[in-house]
Amino acid sequence: MSSDHEDEVDLDTRLRAIKQELEEVNTELSRLNQRRRKLEHLEEKLRIQKLQLKSNELAQKDWNSQQFPWSSQVRAVLKDVFNIKDFRAQQLGTINAVLSKKDVLLLAPTGGGKSLCYQLPALVVDGITLIVSPLISLMEDQVWALKKLGIRAEYLCSNTDKETVNIILKQLREGDCSNLKLLYITPERVAKSNRFMAALQKCYNAKKLTMVSIDEVHCCSQWGHDYRPDYKHLSVIKTMFPDVPLLGVTATATAKVIADVRKMLNLRECLIFNAPFNRPNLYYHVLEKQADKTELHDMLADLIKRKYRHMSGIIYTFSVKDTEELSTQLLQRDVKVLPYYGNLDPKQRSRAHQKWMRNEIQVIVATNAFGMGIDKPDVRFVIHHTMSKSMENFYQESGRAGRDGKRSDCILLYQFKDIFRLSSMIFSEYEGLDNVYSMVKYCINGKDCRRKLISRHFAEVWDDSHCDRLCDHCYYRDKVRLPEQDVTNYYHTLVAILRRAETLQTKLTPLKLVDAWYHKGSPKNRLEEPPPLLDRYIGEQLVAFLIVNGYLKEDFQYNQYTTLCYIAKGSAYVGTDGIRFQAARVLRIPVDSLKSPPKAGSSCISDAELEVIPVTSSISSVAESPIRTSTSKRKMSEINGSDRDECFSIGSETSLSSENSIRSVKIGRKSLEKRRETISSECDSTEQNVTKVAKLVNRSISKKTPSKELIAAEPTDDEDVLFVPNQVEVIDIDEL
Ligand code: ADP
Ligand code: MG
Ligand code: ZN
Repeated sequence: MSSDHEDEVDLDTRLRAIKQELEEVNTELSRLNQRRRKLEHLEEKLRIQKLQLKSNELAQKDWNSQQFPWSSQVRAVLKDVFNIKDFRAQQLGTINAVLSKKDVLLLAPTGGGKSLCYQLPALVVDGITLIVSPLISLMEDQVWALKKLGIRAEYLCSNTDKETVNIILKQLREGDCSNLKLLYITPERVAKSNRFMAALQKCYNAKKLTMVSIDEVHCCSQWGHDYRPDYKHLSVIKTMFPDVPLLGVTATATAKVIADVRKMLNLRECLIFNAPFNRPNLYYHVLEKQADKTELHDMLADLIKRKYRHMSGIIYTFSVKDTEELSTQLLQRDVKVLPYYGNLDPKQRSRAHQKWMRNEIQVIVATNAFGMGIDKPDVRFVIHHTMSKSMENFYQESGRAGRDGKRSDCILLYQFKDIFRLSSMIFSEYEGLDNVYSMVKYCINGKDCRRKLISRHFAEVWDDSHCDRLCDHCYYRDKVRLPEQDVTNYYHTLVAILRRAETLQTKLTPLKLVDAWYHKGSPKNRLEEPPPLLDRYIGEQLVAFLIVNGYLKEDFQYNQYTTLCYIAKGSAYVGTDGIRFQAARVLRIPVDSLKSPPKAGSSCISDAELEVIPVTSSISSVAESPIRTSTSKRKMSEINGSDRDECFSIGSETSLSSENSIRSVKIGRKSLEKRRETISSECDSTEQNVTKVAKLVNRSISKKTPSKELIAAEPTDDEDVLFVPNQVEVIDIDEL
């Protein structure tokens, strides 16, 4: 019997030891995982830099020279046919390279003038140029514009009537370029039409295939945001026509995508031209999206009717349903709009597009199906009713503003809820969540220039002078910036709420989590400690921040109808520095300010009187004070009249007004150590330790109400530890 008992004790001890070791392993794993993510990020960055270095080197190889045999003809066509005075960045280099029969990839921002790089050489050389383009609307646009310039261009798509198809194929077979200089086709035709490929082969045999260009070439890559399965068949082009120059153009410039594109297209030696991605004439702004729909629709209608009076724009929405709803609501408010989405009847879709092109309607409300290559020069505003599903999408969509180089606005309406609408839609996509999170990071970033964030995403070197106050953060600078704070104990509170839910065998959605934190919603989810002293929108920003940085994570569950998104503790490791977060004050457009017409020469909302939503006093006092501020030891001993090591100080997250609102307390490390020693002789688990300490401290708090003077306290050295009474999980004594 007694030996059985000993065995059991022995087993228990071993189990405990294993449990402890497992915990250690898990902590180490999460630290390593974090390290790995950081390294991967760095690796990607360096790879891009290397690629850029290499392509810069090649691109600098005097491709911009005017001494090529075709140089004078190129100039003449530019001026006389296209009515353009000068080349934009990388256009001439690209044109010279393809005319030298090199394969080229051109990475240039939306609106950078990529089309000219295949349209112009097509007119300089004898023969037919083939352009593969992913969208019918895009082909229609370009062919229409080229015909207006008197250029012989045609396109083949599923809507082309039989007779036209026959004529075009005959010209192609015969290499007859008297009526056909540029032919646009969809990738499906390369993939699926033998008849077309046979005609193309004949054209090539007759030495009349001048060049093949692939527009939006990132569609080849599964890493890209617009992967099109039919693009993978385009690999036959280089195999069938090895000596015909191939030009791929795209506005997506991540190294992964480019490497993939090269592989998919069999481009062994190719020149990569990189045009700068900064769009100096665009003003970037993130606005709070009103929760109340009527308010939101009123605001948008006012904005469009007043600030953007007589200006053309696009509103991007999350779904077909949103598109329909928003366009109906705007119509009811006398805004001339039409909806546009993928499965709209093709006739209606094309009608909407044409009417918008001709300024017969002011705004097109669209899903991201309204996309690639839309070429309207005078789009003065692009509004994102919901953030895009990736930074690439956002950059491309917002980039449809201001192609003519004039000032234009890119406004994004941000709302916490939208994160989860997006993530539950795309979480199963490859890298889908990462993409959404990079978008969320852009929205909740509280300090950096928006351009800097965009260019960082595209791995460009950044120089602050690029912005010239053309983004909300640069424009409103000090009005929007809040100081960085240590939010580690908020994080612990949130985790405690999640743990509590777990013990109740429930899961919390993001909104329920925030509700519980703010003592709203179901009382059973709340902790005893009072709600945070942050304004709710900042609390939500913080939760978003914790999610996108891996401290919390989304947990997706299917039911019969939909995907549900819950929140769980994430795997990111909280280091000794804690978690630092810089909230952004949100800007809102006061409806009144929209009533006045725009000032002459002023573009849009950057010059409007935006209202900075005031931050309530409690958070401002918190926010304005330095991070981890606590009372200096000298002061504390004065206040408490006791040995400095025995006293407690108020952490930066503490409200200073009343005893009730004490939320976090710092106690001296030494004093904690001392207490730990005494306590640990009595109890055996860390949790008990902490609870004991908590009780002790709680008792001292109730005795010593902090005085106002503590507000002005200077930061002490890092000897203090954060401590939250009534919340055991916060302190891991072994980490102190
Ligand atoms: P993207 O790079 O997005 O494909 P486009 O080729 O559609 O851009 O060009 C955008 C607009 O810029 C078009 O209206 C085009 O005529 C115009 N454009 C192109 N090159 C020049 C230039 N060198 N100077 C002025 N306008 C140009
Ligand atoms: Mg284009
Ligand atoms: Zn800026």
